[in-house]
Amino acid sequence: EDLQSQYSLAKIRNRPDTSEWIETKFEWSENLLKLLREKFKFEKFRSKQLAAINATLSKEDVLLLMPTGGGKSLVYQLPALVNKRLTLVISPLISLIEDQLIALKNLDIEAATLNSSSTKEEKKYVHSSMTSETAKLNLLYVTPEWVAKSKVFMTYLQKCFDKGYLDRIVIDEVHCCSTWGHDFRPEYNHLGFFKSMFPGVPILGLTATATMSVLVDIQNMLSLTDALIITAPFNRPNLFYKVINKPSDKSDCLDILEKLLKNKYKNQSGIIYSSTIKECEDLSEGLKQRGLNVKYYHAQLDSEAKKIIHRRWLQNKYQAVVATIAFGMGIDKPDVRFVIHHSIPKSMEGLYQESGRAGRDGKQSDCILMFNLSDFLRNVSMASSKTEEKNSKSILEYCLDQKRCRRAIIAEHFEDKWNQTDCDKMCDHCKYQREISYFNVTSALQDILNLIVLASNKEIKLTLNKLMSAWFQSGAKELRNPILKKPKCSKEQAEHIIGFLIFKGYLNIDKGYTMYTTVAYIQKGQCLNEKATVTMPYGSNLGYQKVADIIEIDSENLEEPSRKRKKD
Ligand code: ADP
Ligand code: MG
Ligand code: ZN
Repeated sequence: EDLQSQYSLAKIRNRPDTSEWIETKFEWSENLLKLLREKFKFEKFRSKQLAAINATLSKEDVLLLMPTGGGKSLVYQLPALVNKRLTLVISPLISLIEDQLIALKNLDIEAATLNSSSTKEEKKYVHSSMTSETAKLNLLYVTPEWVAKSKVFMTYLQKCFDKGYLDRIVIDEVHCCSTWGHDFRPEYNHLGFFKSMFPGVPILGLTATATMSVLVDIQNMLSLTDALIITAPFNRPNLFYKVINKPSDKSDCLDILEKLLKNKYKNQSGIIYSSTIKECEDLSEGLKQRGLNVKYYHAQLDSEAKKIIHRRWLQNKYQAVVATIAFGMGIDKPDVRFVIHHSIPKSMEGLYQESGRAGRDGKQSDCILMFNLSDFLRNVSMASSKTEEKNSKSILEYCLDQKRCRRAIIAEHFEDKWNQTDCDKMCDHCKYQREISYFNVTSALQDILNLIVLASNKEIKLTLNKLMSAWFQSGAKELRNPILKKPKCSKEQAEHIIGFLIFKGYLNIDKGYTMYTTVAYIQKGQCLNEKATVTMPYGSNLGYQKVADIIEIDSENLEEPSRKRKKD
C-alpha cells in the first residue's frame, strides 16, 4: 500500500503543466465564451477555470484544487450546458445544494435535487429526465448519502448511463473522502465505484483543501490514479490581512467592534468568529445592546433556526453573524466585506478557511484577527491531541511577527509558491512598513525564568496572569522578587515578549487540569542554551536595549533555532 501511495505521489509531482488546456481552439471554445458572458454574465475566465473546463470536456478525470471563492462551481455548471445532457453533482450538504439551486434558477439553468424530502412528483420528474431523450435537466445534485442508500436512484443512474446521457460526475468537497482531511465523511467511500461502473464518464473532483497525503488518498479512494491535477494559487489577492491587539477588557473589545461596524463597515456584511458558544452569545448580546443588527450562530441551535439566520444574513437583514466555526461549510455569500476573528483561530487552516469567506466576489475585503496571548494559551491548553496542540501553536508566528508579510507566512504554511510582489500592500505589514529594531530581551527572559523558579520553590505554577503580575511587581507578594526591575514596556508589549519567547522555545506551555477547565502554565523551555543572547525584532520601543545594526545583518541566523525545531 505504501508503495502504491508513493507511486501516486510521484505521479502528482510529475504532472506536466496545464498550459495545453488553456488553448481556445477546442470545438466548444467559442460556445464556452458565449455562455460565460451571456448566461453567467462574467467577463473572462479566472486562473485555472478554463484549463479545468477544457480538460473535463475532453473527458479527462480532473481534480481541481482551488481556494474558497475561487470559482469552482462554474467549472462544472458551464460544461453542463455544452453537451446539454446530465451532469451529476455530489455535494455534502442539502443546504448547500439548495443555495446552488436558487442561484441556478436565477440564471435560468435547469437543475434539480433528490433527497428524502422530495415529493413523489419531483422524484418522478427527475427519474424520467434521467432516462428521456428530450429531457431538459442539466444538473442533478444529490448528497453522498443518497447515492449510498437509494437503490432506485442508482437504477435510474445506470439507465441514464446505458443510454449515453450521463455527461460527467462532479464530486464537490472531494477531500471529504479522505480520513486525512478534516471533514471525513464515510459515505464518500461509496463514490469509489463510479469509475468502474460508468467507464468513460469523466469525474471532476473539487476541493479547497488538500495536502499531498489527502490528494493521494482521494486518488486511491476514487480510483482516479490518472486524474489530471489542476491547482490554482492559494493567494487571495483581494483579501486584506491584518492583526490587531485585543484588549483584555470585554467592553473595550466591544468598543472596537462597534466602531468598525458603525463606521468602516457601515451597511456592509460580515462575520465575527468567536471561539466558544458562550463567547459567541455574549458578544452578540453586547453588540445588540450597542444598537447593532447582529445575530449569533452556533452548533447548539436547531437546524431550522440555523437556516433562518443564514437566510436573513444572505438577505442583508443582519449586518453580521457572530458565529462559532459551526458557521462554515456552505456559507457562500459573495459580498462578505469583513471577517473578524474575535479570538485567535485554532489553526492556520482555520484562519485561512474562515477568513476566506470574505470577498468571494473578488472585491477588496478585510480579514482582521484580534490577538491576545491568553486566548492563544487557552487554545493550546484545550487542545485534545498532539496534532491539535501543534495546530494551535502554528498560528502564533502569524500573529506575533512584526515584519514579515502575513501572506508570506500563510503561503509558507501551505507550501504554496511565493513571490515578494504577490501581496501588493494587501496586508498591514506590507502596507504600513513599520521600521523594525532589534531589542536585547535576554534580561526579560532571565527575570521570567527567575520568577518561574521562585514560584516553583513554593510549589506554585505560573499562569500568564500570575506571571504578568509578578513581573510587574503587583499581585501576590510571595510570587514577586523585589530585586528584579519592573519592565519599562506596556503590559501588551510584555505579553508580546512572552509570546515571542514561547514561539522561540525559550519558554514552554504546560497544561494543567482543574475541576472545571484546563489551564496553561508558563514553564521554562527545554532546548535552548541559557547563555544565548535573545534578540527580538519589534516595531516600537520595547524599553530594552536596542541591538547594534550588525546584528540586524545577522538576523537570518537569529531565526535559526525556531526553524530547526519546527521541522522536528
Ligand atoms: P468556490 O466554490 O470555489 O468557493 P464559487 O463557485 O462559489 O467558489 O464562486 C465564488 C464567486 O466567484 C461567486 O460569487 C461567483 O459568482 C464568482 N465567479 C466565479 N467565476 C467567476 C469569473 N470567471 N468572473 C467573475 N466572477 C466569478
Ligand atoms: Mg463551492
Ligand atoms: Zn503582505
